[in-house]
Amino acid sequence: MSTTTDLATAAAAEVSSVLSGMLAGNHEQVVHFYDPSTGLKAIVAIHNTHLGPALGGTRMWNYRSEAEALTDVLRLSRGMSYKAAITGLNLGGGKAVIIGDAKTQKSEAMLRRFGKFVDGLGGRYITAEDVNISTRDIEYMAMETKHVTGLPEILGGGGDPSPVTAYGVYLGMKASAKEAFGNDSLQGKKVLVQGVGKVGQSLVEYLGKEGAKVFVYDISAENLKAAAVKNPAIQVVEAEGMFDLDIDIYAPCALGATVNTESLSRLRCAIISGAANNQLADEDLHGQLCKDKGILYAPDFLINAGGLINVSIELEGYNRERAMSKTERIYDAALNVFAIAREENIPTIQAAKRLAEQRIESVGRIRLSHSIR
Ligand code: NAD
Repeated sequence: MSTTTDLATAAAAEVSSVLSGMLAGNHEQVVHFYDPSTGLKAIVAIHNTHLGPALGGTRMWNYRSEAEALTDVLRLSRGMSYKAAITGLNLGGGKAVIIGDAKTQKSEAMLRRFGKFVDGLGGRYITAEDVNISTRDIEYMAMETKHVTGLPEILGGGGDPSPVTAYGVYLGMKASAKEAFGNDSLQGKKVLVQGVGKVGQSLVEYLGKEGAKVFVYDISAENLKAAAVKNPAIQVVEAEGMFDLDIDIYAPCALGATVNTESLSRLRCAIISGAANNQLADEDLHGQLCKDKGILYAPDFLINAGGLINVSIELEGYNRERAMSKTERIYDAALNVFAIAREENIPTIQAAKRLAEQRIESVGRIRLSHSIR
């Protein structure tokens, strides 16, 4: 049984690790929520609100520890700040995690309680879907707060943002081809898509229409089958040997950190360009390693921003055409990042992060000055 001293020591250690995590990532605010009646345990991390309210989805995951959940939410919220900034949106970066098994612990009461907690943040944080949180779950949250996006179309929302994300990734891939090969056609290019879930399926459809030769790998037989409906020419490959294939483009569309020392020792592609968040296991090390190997890396937070653009349009009154046309700007934004990286001989991730940080700094200052009377 814990003594009062044990609890005080544990609490002190926790606070110090939250604050040190915030300090390391330059986060503005981290809020923990606990509700015993519904079993809700959640953390909201607000990374930066200089450009506007922090927007980012809620992920429900059975984290092995609170520390793991905290690390995830701090990392993800920071990525959202970069994504919003480089995309030219007037939004900050935030993210939420609910700790628990989505299959057995998620309930209407829990989601509504979470919605109430989000409401208490007064609009500094706006939530949306993420892993294991569906549009139906968002509907429950929306019963308790208006600071929510990603509602179904019948309720005036943008619905599933994945097709918009896939469109942006496809355009980011074309921009990468222009930089690497001198023209943006993907016809005949050999592309390996890892993960054919919601985004991957839409992406293989675009690639099929353009005449690319598509290899896919997924752990879900059901999703592989659905992908083959979208693009009957896809060729399914096994995990083993996947990174040894003779390909032009690797498109990570499943998990983060698949671009690492091991995969990079095998990959022989010219481009890495996909939808997954946090593709580089270590941004500095593997960003540099891509460059050294002559692989053009399309920064994930730049080319997968279609989903964020989609939910941001919802805040203005949803319109799919506007979401798609704003997403088209990803093409030029990617070319701009590649040009800076080329001219300054730096990794593309470094160029993209610097552009995002500069916008947060310069435009953020102007927005702050609006409130000076
Ligand atoms: P999803 O859950 O629909 O699909 C993920 C797919 O990856 C599934 O088919 C799953 O079976 C597969 N997968 C899981 N583990 C795997 C493994 N070890 N090897 C191979 N395949 C594996 O997710 P999604 O919405 O398509 O998103 C894909 C990625 O893009 C995620 O990293 C997500 O964070 C990111 N992303 C998605 C959006 C969006 O709008 N959905 C926006 C930005 C970023």
